Amino acid sequence: SDTVIQRALLSVSDKRGLVEFASFLSARGVEILSTGGSAKAIREAGLPVTEVAETTEFPEIMDGRVKTLHPRIHGGLLGRRDHSDDRAAMAEHGIPAIDLLVVNLYPFEQTVAGGADRAACIEKIDIGGPAMVRAAAKNHAFVTVVVNPDDYDGVMAEMRANDGALGEHFRRRLAADAYAHTAAYDAAVAEWMQAQEGVTFPRELSIAGRRKQTLRYGENPHQDAAFYQLAGQQGDRPGVATATQLQGKELSYNNLNDTDAAFEAVAEFDDPAVVIVKHANPCGVAVAGGLSDAYDKALACDPVSAFGGIIAVNRTLDAATAEKITELFAEVVIAPVVAAEARSVLATKKNLRVLETGGMPVADGSGLTARTLSGGLLLQTRDGGVVTEGDLSPVTARRPSAQELADLLFAFRVCKHVKSNAIVYAKNGATVGIGAGQMSRVDSARIAVRKSADAAEAAGETTPRTQGAVVASDAFFPFADGLISAAEAGVTAVIQPGGSKRDDEVVAAADARGLAMVFTGMRHFRH
Ligand code: 5GP
Repeated sequence: SDTVIQRALLSVSDKRGLVEFASFLSARGVEILSTGGSAKAIREAGLPVTEVAETTEFPEIMDGRVKTLHPRIHGGLLGRRDHSDDRAAMAEHGIPAIDLLVVNLYPFEQTVAGGADRAACIEKIDIGGPAMVRAAAKNHAFVTVVVNPDDYDGVMAEMRANDGALGEHFRRRLAADAYAHTAAYDAAVAEWMQAQEGVTFPRELSIAGRRKQTLRYGENPHQDAAFYQLAGQQGDRPGVATATQLQGKELSYNNLNDTDAAFEAVAEFDDPAVVIVKHANPCGVAVAGGLSDAYDKALACDPVSAFGGIIAVNRTLDAATAEKITELFAEVVIAPVVAAEARSVLATKKNLRVLETGGMPVADGSGLTARTLSGGLLLQTRDGGVVTEGDLSPVTARRPSAQELADLLFAFRVCKHVKSNAIVYAKNGATVGIGAGQMSRVDSARIAVRKSADAAEAAGETTPRTQGAVVASDAFFPFADGLISAAEAGVTAVIQPGGSKRDDEVVAAADARGLAMVFTGMRHFRH
């Protein structure tokens, strides 16, 4: 049944739209109860308002820690209007029925994000607000609860259309929103406290996040999907979740997933770098003295796959590079900054989605990644492993030259962002063959060589690109076969984690062919 709103309690930290909403209620003859700051704003707008303290006959105490936590308030929110005992209790104790509760909570997350000290953050943990919200939501059969100022318009429209009442379906939806809100609020508090105590994997999981976009569909058109941005530290990482879309069509589920892969990969490099991604795997990665050259080198790796790809750069996107990008059919471009001239260039491609993140994520930064499985969630710390020269153990008679060493480190960083089994051939700061996602490592190696040969042939080159290149493997070579096939393709140096039972055989095969090989001691599976 619909309930006509006769009395409302307004207690909000975010005072956006408060006066307009209060004056609408007032004009409809709704009695308004309110707490200190909210009451003041309403009174100053010339509207009649009763302080909660008057109703409870109890002052706000302890700097507002206790304001509304009183039976006269909670009884008015929880009393069942169709329950004779509840009605009798309300009459006996002078409890006014509250039909509409409008609350938004202390800005806890903003306070944490603002760098406040522990005591100040603790003080921003709202207690009375969530208690009222949960009470009103439980009693949604009679009470309407509004926790988001964006909903005021909808509530007013419904009351106008419905003689001052709100329909049951609407109340139920608002109640569901209310519980989601208090749950997310407590999740934010829990995450902050866990972070303070260094707890990464809490006994019970709570995640605070907000829907950023309802997607047209999921990975496939028959799947539904939405995009959520995580709250707190996790949600601060520069990337797709925090990016601003400057132009182009709406981002799809696959766009977002691929763009994330591209941007995370390009963040590995200090020099100007370009990563081109298709189906969440890089199909071209390069570093150079400038972005424009890096783009040419990245595209050259596999121009066929790059068609319809996602392009990520780790520097301000300049007009010259943007010009080149417009010559290709690309789905998305993501950059920390897009220069004004580059924006005008890209604007000629109306559909091209352009994202600006404002910064680069730290490749070895902290944070968690998640993956769902049936009935569960796998959480792990991000793969922040970054192998540098000092981590390498040379294992062959020949040591890598300076150029080989640079290419080995580059190729291994690319490997981290290629689905396993990953084999990456690289030369002069550019990938020349990428083998991804095969069930056997030797197949990934063969595919990488074949793709490299295809690209060379299409470009009219006569020498194989893998000739004189280096190769990286995301995990150890279990047998010498993968390494031997790389040697046959012409590589001169190899980087891999090492640690196989047959390392001796693999090292012997490398020595027999005059290759330089280094072990990283770190694996980069990515599934
Ligand atoms: P006001 O600005 O009106 O003084 O305070 C509004 C805020 O106080 C709202 O965010 C509301 O959730 C919160 N609040 C209401 N009652 C209580 C209470 O009893 N204890 C605490 N800690 N916060 C309350």
